[in-house]
Amino acid sequence: MTTPSPVWHPFTQHGLNEPIPLVTYGKGAALHTEDGRRIVDAISSWWVTTHGHCHPAIMAAIRDQAEKLDQIIFAGWTHEPAEQLARGLIDMMPAPLAHVFYSDSGSTAVEVALKMALGYWRNRGEPRHRILTLEHGYHGDTIGGMSVGARGVYNQAYAPLLFDVGTLPFPVGDGQNTLDALAAECGAGPAALIVEPLVLGAGGMLFYEASILAEMRAICAAHRVLFIADEVMTGWGRTGTLLACEQAGVVPDILCLSKGLTGGSVPLAATLATPEIFAAHRSTDKAQMFFHSSSYTANPIACAAALANLAVWRDEPVRERIATLAARQAARIGALTGVRNARVLGTIAACEIGGNEGYLAEIGPALAAHFRDRNLLVRPMGNNVYVMPPYCIDEADLDAVYAAIQAAAERFG
Ligand SMILES: *Cc1c(COP(=O)(O)O)cnc(C)c1O
Repeated sequence: MTTPSPVWHPFTQHGLNEPIPLVTYGKGAALHTEDGRRIVDAISSWWVTTHGHCHPAIMAAIRDQAEKLDQIIFAGWTHEPAEQLARGLIDMMPAPLAHVFYSDSGSTAVEVALKMALGYWRNRGEPRHRILTLEHGYHGDTIGGMSVGARGVYNQAYAPLLFDVGTLPFPVGDGQNTLDALAAECGAGPAALIVEPLVLGAGGMLFYEASILAEMRAICAAHRVLFIADEVMTGWGRTGTLLACEQAGVVPDILCLSKGLTGGSVPLAATLATPEIFAAHRSTDKAQMFFHSSSYTANPIACAAALANLAVWRDEPVRERIATLAARQAARIGALTGVRNARVLGTIAACEIGGNEGYLAEIGPALAAHFRDRNLLVRPMGNNVYVMPPYCIDEADLDAVYAAIQAAAERFG
């Protein structure tokens, strides 16, 4: 008998003794396990893998950088990959975003964004602290990220520590309910609104119209409320465009990027800000600097991986792959029978199977096992099943995913 693993997994109830497969290598849209199975990665390993696992150009960049410089303090020091990446990001992302602050994960990108917003108002001599958010939002699992995200079973234990926010109702129809609530909240002079543009991911792949996003942005601008776009999931082509904000013709004051920033290879995040937000912190007064750092800020190997990701976007037909995948997703999700609320936006497709019972739905573990048994990495959120694969997935693998969803609908529907 082997001793139990000391590893404590995230979002895993170890008491259920569900199998935890050991993955040895990945290539393209597939993962390979120790026991010889080939698993189709239909969720991009939790929404990060964009071009496929172990993309050769990104792996080569990591190898090259590992030979040169592994890590360097980033307070008062710099290095080529961080400099080039910042320039590359500014070129690729919309103006006037002009400053890049690095961190390590989507959660920290959000913490940085919130701290930038509060620092901006404090340094201008008109302190503001209230943050507005959207119902069902998700912005990470740190205390700040949880505070601006939906309250629920995931964070009940920590609720007493979470700070108070203004929560706008999720848009219904043309979203007037949300816009009215936003306009009312803006009267009290909040510091910022943080939103996931077009898709609320962890909230259950909930979509809303680009026109509503554009209206929210306009209301914020009219009331001088900073607009933070958390594109940690939606960025890097997921919704069909590089940024979801693009579809609404919107540029945020602060933009959070992570997940696909390195093509999904190694951890890195970037929070981009406008010249006004940077200028509010730039001074000869040390007390006005931006007080945030983590040990591995702008790790050179991670920056080299992200730089290689930018090159992949420049040199390979990434946008064509996204368009092809989006068309295939739309055709397949539309062809399913016996599912509810089938929907698609760009490369993200989702539907519901069985009754609506939330994240801890009884059907959850059975659904997960259904897909696991078919060598598919699909991780339903309750009875919400979604497909968000790497852009390189081929037709046969995608067909296998949808055949399994159809079978699940027949079995559990
Ligand atoms: C995943 C996610 C985060 C958190 O990112 P981590 O890297 O898991 O910390 C934040 N915001 C959104 C919209 C996300 O989807």
